[in-house]
Amino acid sequence: MILEIKKLMAKGAYSGEISFDYQPPQDLNLLPLCKIDGGVKVEGTYEIFDGGEVEVTLKLSYKLVGQCSYCLADAEEQIEYSTEPLLFVTDKDDADNYVYDGNRLDLSQAVVDALLFSQPEVLLCDNGCKGE
Ligand SMILES: [Zn+2]
Repeated sequence: MILEIKKLMAKGAYSGEISFDYQPPQDLNLLPLCKIDGGVKVEGTYEIFDGGEVEVTLKLSYKLVGQCSYCLADAEEQIEYSTEPLLFVTDKDDADNYVYDGNRLDLSQAVVDALLFSQPEVLLCDNGCKGE
């Protein structure tokens, strides 16, 4: 999941679509007793600005499976999550945005961050589960 920014600029592809499957690392901090079933489907768009800054929006979808946080019955939930526009800049001192080297833009960190944000606080077997 690398965007080759210089190559895209050379092709005049200043904006476009992103689509790939992502296999999260085993040590990703998920809800207790839960895992991601299969991979994470990542889609999105990018736009390259004049100064080399790149705006990326990501849409994640995946299935979270595991045990209900309340009653421990089997549970699963299809998660769909869209990020706000994320800005990638080449200024290493910019703490508010993602930084890249102006050439190869690695989306891994942004995807992991979005994955962590996208998780529900609990996974339930049923919306009405009271844990009995
Ligand atoms: Zn339950």
